[in-house]
Amino acid sequence: MGVVTLLAPITGWAAPLDEVPDKVFSERMLGDGLAIDPTEGEVRAPFDGVITVLPSSRHAVSIRSDTDIEVLIHVGLETVALAGRGFVAHVAEGDRVKAGDRLLTFDLETVARDAASLITPVVVTGEGWTLSERVTNRLVTAGQPVLRIERGPPAGSEATSEGSANRTIRSPLLHGLHARPAARVAGVAAAHRARITLMAGQRTASASSPVGMMALGLRDGDNLTLSASGPDAEAAVAALAELILSGMDEKAGPAQAAPSPTVASAGPVEGDDGELVFSGVCAAPGLVVGKAVHLRLSEIVVCETGQGAAHEAAALDAALEVVAGRLEAGASGGPVERRSILAAHAAFLTDPELVSAAHQAVAEGRSAAFAWRSACGATAGLLRSLGDPRMAERADDLMDIERQVLLQLAGDAPAAPPALGPGDVLLADDLLPSQLIALDGARLAGICTARGGPTSHVAILAAAMGVPALVAAGEGLDRIANGTLVVLDADGRRLTASPSAQTLAASESRAAADRRRKAEARAASGESCRTADGARIEVFANLGAASEAADAVAGGAEGCGLLRTEFLFLDRQTPPDEGEQRAQYQAIADGLEGRPLIVRTLDAGGDKPLPYLPMPHEDNPALGLRGVRSGLLHPELLLTQMRAICRVRSSGPVAVMLPMIASVAEVRQARALLDRAATDAGSATPLLGVMIETPAAAMTTDLLRPEIDFISVGTNDLTQYTLAMDRQNPHLAAQLDGLHPAVLRLIAAAAAGAGDLRWTGVCGGLASDPLAAPILIGLGVTELSAAPAMVAEIKAAVRSLTLGECRALAASALAVESADAVRQLAAEALDRSRTPRHTAGAPA
Ligand code: PEP
Ligand code: MG
Repeated sequence: MGVVTLLAPITGWAAPLDEVPDKVFSERMLGDGLAIDPTEGEVRAPFDGVITVLPSSRHAVSIRSDTDIEVLIHVGLETVALAGRGFVAHVAEGDRVKAGDRLLTFDLETVARDAASLITPVVVTGEGWTLSERVTNRLVTAGQPVLRIERGPPAGSEATSEGSANRTIRSPLLHGLHARPAARVAGVAAAHRARITLMAGQRTASASSPVGMMALGLRDGDNLTLSASGPDAEAAVAALAELILSGMDEKAGPAQAAPSPTVASAGPVEGDDGELVFSGVCAAPGLVVGKAVHLRLSEIVVCETGQGAAHEAAALDAALEVVAGRLEAGASGGPVERRSILAAHAAFLTDPELVSAAHQAVAEGRSAAFAWRSACGATAGLLRSLGDPRMAERADDLMDIERQVLLQLAGDAPAAPPALGPGDVLLADDLLPSQLIALDGARLAGICTARGGPTSHVAILAAAMGVPALVAAGEGLDRIANGTLVVLDADGRRLTASPSAQTLAASESRAAADRRRKAEARAASGESCRTADGARIEVFANLGAASEAADAVAGGAEGCGLLRTEFLFLDRQTPPDEGEQRAQYQAIADGLEGRPLIVRTLDAGGDKPLPYLPMPHEDNPALGLRGVRSGLLHPELLLTQMRAICRVRSSGPVAVMLPMIASVAEVRQARALLDRAATDAGSATPLLGVMIETPAAAMTTDLLRPEIDFISVGTNDLTQYTLAMDRQNPHLAAQLDGLHPAVLRLIAAAAAGAGDLRWTGVCGGLASDPLAAPILIGLGVTELSAAPAMVAEIKAAVRSLTLGECRALAASALAVESADAVRQLAAEALDRSRTPRHTAGAPA
């Protein structure tokens, strides 16, 4: 029947929820119910049911009846901070209990002393329940009926919901729900009709509000409860849990492994010789000498009173729309970093909490500009108050959006960027992502900001543009006049203004050598690539979207050695059909103008779950149904993708590559599917290759060889599986080096096993590392597929050594004991190669 009588779970004073001094409960964000101010420290089951949530802090418990009514009993307010102190649990998640069974006991005195309040909300989570016979404003005894709950809306009202779902997960998000992952969560939430709420500790947010989710202050390892109510509640919770548990590509890179505070350093140090030296944090590497040019933001003055609510509301909506359109246009091209940052910015503009706070202020008579500034300011303040430097950086993103909308409301065009001379170094108190995007990247030599952090969006953009950047350099940049000579040494974490003759000479010669090398590399990027003694090495680019193909070719790419097709499959509710896939692959083939295109089949599962691909729960997804394993589990998906690839028309080869191969049997099954796909498409069977990402594949490449046409070593995964180090674990990031001799020995085995296959390639991160390129070639690799921005430098590194030198270097690398020692050997070999050769083809 779906009717339950709720018995008081605690003895104490029963009060209406409105009296709970916490909006989450008083505004019924989690659901309706009542509150009890306890006089005894014992929580008992309010009905027969199953324990669904019992956090390790034991400050709350949820129980679900057989009729699917779920009730949360939250002992006190802000009690999560006690981390279990004073609480004892008598049940565990999944336990079946009877009404009146003891669930928790807690020490009234400890909790009363250390928590914000003892008042205990008892709420029916989700929607679609009618509550009646509520007992409040009197003393109740545990076990006494206090509420009647029944399914369905009160008589005369409209039906509101068909279901509810709850799930608590441990968040694996390294940096919490910051702007980009929050925008992705909101995107998936928007694809569902259910109302979805996220709860972490005492904070709650709607899944449709990126800003609200950022303010949860979620940290890696925190418990996160997803609650949904509505027609597709179960699916919504499942999709969001999958997305969040995937880690959302929040991988630790060196810059992310050790977050640095965004507080500025103390200020410059004055040298005797007139130098002014600022210390900061490296946000993008490099060394440049140039002239200082300041970028200062003009103050935007806004009027508090508006010209009528209707007028101001329309003006606000129009401004939001124009800025959103501008961001959308900006996000349609350029590198992937820029697109994802602009998409996260665009999400602010439709954030329901932010926009409704602004509209509320407009309704109260404020001008659109004042209202927008207040809403952004309040949220930015909240983000800054979380004490997390990364969230403070997201507040800077919000201020960027605030400014763009204010300028639009004022009828001003976005401020013109400062005119840069070639080699200028930009100085700013802080830089907004939109300002950096507007600058002339070809002229900008470097960036130094007084504030900011190494994981800010400005830092990510600068690195993608190849512009050295120093952040958090502290007060005092104003003391440097425009036009002053500066040395920006981001690697050395310092900016020197008015350098001494000695500093200048040393820096100039280092910077000039770097510049020369890069310019030479760029100038020669279009030429085909051979070692110093003429051995042909193909240098391809890794691509992740159709828009990147033409730029990669312009940067010297001789083909695409890895097309990561995940971009087509992620963040949507249904898989792309054959036509959509074919169109995308065709666009990439067209951009490559007949150069080889190697399409990797969907690498789903593991860290890349798909909402529409049912997968069993896995305790260890990196060792689970990922790569080709998930493809073979869902052959219809693989077959559709293979058919789409077979239908691509190009004057060059279009090949299929299988990820995560561990056995010959997998290749045979995939080949059977490919033959079928080719028959269906009426085409010849394309070349078929495998990624060497498991030690098993590396050690048995000779056995795989009869089944395949080429290999490509995925050093990212091969390193993770060889060293048994999770590639997403920030604590292991420094040790996770593909130049470890163990990985190199496996690559050597794979190259030997591959014999004379069409390509013996590498497409993992090592292929983008100029120090690694000569070693890989020495091990027998003949094709390197690098990040597009690194193609020219990789070609230059290949050209600098003979095949004999590469082989000698590789042999030494296999024999040393660490990745550091390998790097040292490689750096020495490249340095030697850069001093002029007296005899061509010098002996190894
Ligand atoms: C790799 O593992 O090296 C690789 C190229 O694949 P991905 O990084 O996409 O897992
Ligand atoms: Mg991989």
